[in-house]
Amino acid sequence: MLNVFRLVRTLALQETYSATIDVSGNILIAKGYGMRAGIIGAGFAGVAAARVMAECGVGVTLFSAEKVPPYYRPRLPELAFGYDVPSDIFMHGLEWYADNGIDLRLDSEVKVFTPDFEVTLKDGKREKFDVLIIATGGGPLMPAFCRDCKLPDIFQLWNYPDAVNIREHLRAGKKLVIVGGGIIGLESALRAGDSNLKVTVIEKAKRLMPQNFGEKASWFIEAQLRERNIDLILDDSVSCFERKEGNRILVNTENKNGILCDLAIVSVGVGFNTSMAEAAGLKTGRRICVDKHLQTSAPGIFAAGDIAGLGVCNPCSVKAALAQGKTAGHNALVFLNGGKMEIYEPEPVPVNLKYKDFQLYSIGEIPGPGKDEKILDHEDMKTYRSCIYESNVLAGVEMVGTNKDFLKYQQELLVSGRAKHE
Ligand SMILES: Cc1cc2nc3c(=O)[nH]c(=O)nc-3n(C[C@H](O)[C@H](O)[C@H](O)COP(=O)(O)OP(=O)(O)OC[C@H]3O[C@@H](n4cnc5c(N)ncnc54)[C@H](O)[C@@H]3O)c2cc1C
Repeated sequence: MLNVFRLVRTLALQETYSATIDVSGNILIAKGYGMRAGIIGAGFAGVAAARVMAECGVGVTLFSAEKVPPYYRPRLPELAFGYDVPSDIFMHGLEWYADNGIDLRLDSEVKVFTPDFEVTLKDGKREKFDVLIIATGGGPLMPAFCRDCKLPDIFQLWNYPDAVNIREHLRAGKKLVIVGGGIIGLESALRAGDSNLKVTVIEKAKRLMPQNFGEKASWFIEAQLRERNIDLILDDSVSCFERKEGNRILVNTENKNGILCDLAIVSVGVGFNTSMAEAAGLKTGRRICVDKHLQTSAPGIFAAGDIAGLGVCNPCSVKAALAQGKTAGHNALVFLNGGKMEIYEPEPVPVNLKYKDFQLYSIGEIPGPGKDEKILDHEDMKTYRSCIYESNVLAGVEMVGTNKDFLKYQQELLVSGRAKHE
């Protein structure tokens, strides 16, 4: 293999960057002494990108809006419902960042960035970098009934303080209403039920998880939840919350008279804040637009994770965020060095939820017009497995209560390219 040694001078800092690159342009060893990367957002994508860049000797500053070290977001329901010691969900101890050459700045929300790599923090301090990665993730959707409501015992479950807040308000025997029957809502319902709360889930759709499961599978999901004493109200939506006597909350819905509860969690989907990117002149849609290298419309500014708009569906998932963080980190190095950028290949991500013996899995198409559903097996209300075919070719698979052979079907779908990207 032919190795080429390059030396590049950065104009900004008059420092040297060196890299050993193979014939294909892959970076083998890079030393970016004096080069500085700013990474905005310290979730899965931000931490993965920081690691790739710091390993190559680039000075990495990782800005986090949060006060606690980066954590495993999917474990928030565990934390909220008291199953975990709070620090157990941290990805690493604080010393890990320093030991790995990452300057982690907690409680450092970036308010502005510019196409020439300057960031301004919430306290007005400015810093200049040689390359930027935006990894600010998504946030919980705030429907109008939630935005206008000032009651303290109505929660969302998106970040660490949300989970700690819920945890502090839980009392056995209390009544909890969960608005939204998606994965986060259902996991919260199951955990709350096990913590001896009385739980009602209100879902706008006529059945549970209609984007990911067919009618029959949805029916099994419903049956399993009801069996666990979770009350379900489907085909109804919340109109407003009212404070009632004894500090209770009346949840008013379109079709029912109202449900009295002690606390409520609203989990109705994810939204993306692109205002900072728009102000910097970057091309945005629902998310920040990126090309196949995860580079935004501004050269040298990359976006990764939930906030990255790929032009195809980008599922909000840990797996995708980690992979994109690595690619964005690599390509940011290449931007500094001039090698060959990596192409990010989106991979379909299955829907899965496993909590004790409650299990849901789905990937690809769901049953519907023009498709054949072949039920593999089902057992009373316990398990359900089916494959979905389009023109006799496997196009999807869904399972409730079991994951028997799910990986085998998933692999077949990935190889054939029939799994859709969400
Ligand atoms: C309760 C819950 C459960 C989930 N369960 C699963 C699951 O089981 N499996 C799965 O694959 N996915 C799950 N997800 C989704 C998954 O967590 C996300 O897809 C993933 O975290 C995305 O990573 P990210 O790095 O893009 O963004 P995030 O993890 O959202 O991190 C972005 C970070 O950027 C920070 N930030 C935002 N703006 C700024 C700013 N201006 N300055 C500085 N910092 C900023 C935010 O505070 C945040 O810490 C779950 C999500 C939630 C909320």
